[in-house]
This record gives sequence, C-alpha cells and structure tokens, in this order.
Amino acid sequence: MPDDQMLAEDSTELRRAVIDTARAMNDAGINVNKSGNVSVRCARGRHAGLLITPSGLGYEEMQPADLVFLRLADGSHAGGREPSSEWRFHLDILRARPELMAIVHTHSPAATALACHERGIPPFHYMVAAAGGADIRCARYATFGTQALSDYALDALADRKACLLAHHGVIACEVSLPLALALAIEVEHLARMYLAACALGDPPRLPDDEMARVLAKFEHYGQPPQR
Ligand code: 13P
Ligand code: ZN
Repeated sequence: MPDDQMLAEDSTELRRAVIDTARAMNDAGINVNKSGNVSVRCARGRHAGLLITPSGLGYEEMQPADLVFLRLADGSHAGGREPSSEWRFHLDILRARPELMAIVHTHSPAATALACHERGIPPFHYMVAAAGGADIRCARYATFGTQALSDYALDALADRKACLLAHHGVIACEVSLPLALALAIEVEHLARMYLAACALGDPPRLPDDEMARVLAKFEHYGQPPQR
C-alpha cells in the first residue's frame, strides 16, 4: 500500500480497534489475562510502522495512548510504554509480508495443546485451507520475545497466514484486525476438532490435489465485493 494511503497511527479509531481486538481475544476464550498481543500496520507521517499492544498490561485497563508505534525501518519507538515482548515477530512479519496488515498472537488452549506436542494441524478437514495452505505448521521452539522465535515463526508462516508456536501458542495474520481475529478463532476451532477426531485414532488426511481444489475455491468463496 502506498505510504500516503496508510492508516495514521495517531487515529483514536485505529488505536481503539487494536484494543477492541485484544479484548475480543479474551471474550472469545482464545486468551486469558495478559497473554497474547495484537498489532496493525500503519504510519507516522512518512514513516511506515506498526501499532502494537504494550507488554504486560491488562487489556481491560489498556487505553489508546498505551499502544506503541514502532518504525518498520529499524524497530525504534519513542518513549511511552514498552512494546509487547513479541515486537520482533510482529515487525519481521509485517516487513516480510507486505500483503498482511494485522497480527494476532494467542495462547488459545486447543491449538497450544497441539503445539506442546510440537505438532501442527494436518489437512484432516478442508477448513485448514483458511490459513492459506494445505496444513498449519508448528514453528520450532524458542524462548518468548527472542529473535530466534521470530525467525522460526517466519519459516512456519511461509505461504501461510497462521502457524502454531511450539510450547507457546498461535500467530494469525490477515489483511485487517477483524480478519486476523477471525483466523485465530478458526485455528482454535480446527485444533479442537482435530483433537476430537484424534480420539477415534489418527484421522485420514485429505490428499494434496483436494486441498489444492479447496484453496482455488477459497479465492472466490462468499459474496462478491459490494459495488
Ligand atoms: P506481552 O505482554 O509482552 O505482549 O507478552 C505476552 C505473550 O504472549 C508473550 O509471548
Ligand atoms: Zn505468547
């Protein structure tokens, strides 16, 4: 998106949308207390960057001024709150994937249960394609807030909009905050269904050619854009 069309980081509406997304994670049961974080691509003047939730601050008490603007160029921020400890992967994803606008990170229980076994979600159900590919990968483990975690997450997100993080949680990225939240909820729902299916044994996988058909259908799924 050209810089002059980028959302302004000082927009109260945008800042409220980030906080509403963070609160909605807890309301949807995909996070508890202060875990997880949210970011959105935006700009300060001519500087491209992102707005991110501050580290370790409860979402209920969070105010628009608590959000932190990071410059995309160098990750710098000026004063105010400390950004989320996961600012590295938010920054690296938005740098590497210009088509993505918003990122939601959760510790949602079913997806995290799989990630604690270092397992992703295979093509047991066609909706796995909602994350952009034939499976949802699980990134290698690294300590939270590290560059290594960011590097592993970026690998697991190749050609995908979501991944699991081993012994940690989920990342979901999309073209808007509501869609990133919806994808994080979808990943959790898929993980719940996969765990339920596993109770009857290892479920069969949909073959690659079928997942390719589903991915092609998803390009035109739903209602055509309103004129
Ligand atoms: P922050 O409060 O620093 O965003 O950390 C939460 C989290 O989920 C770390 O992985
Ligand atoms: Zn986390």
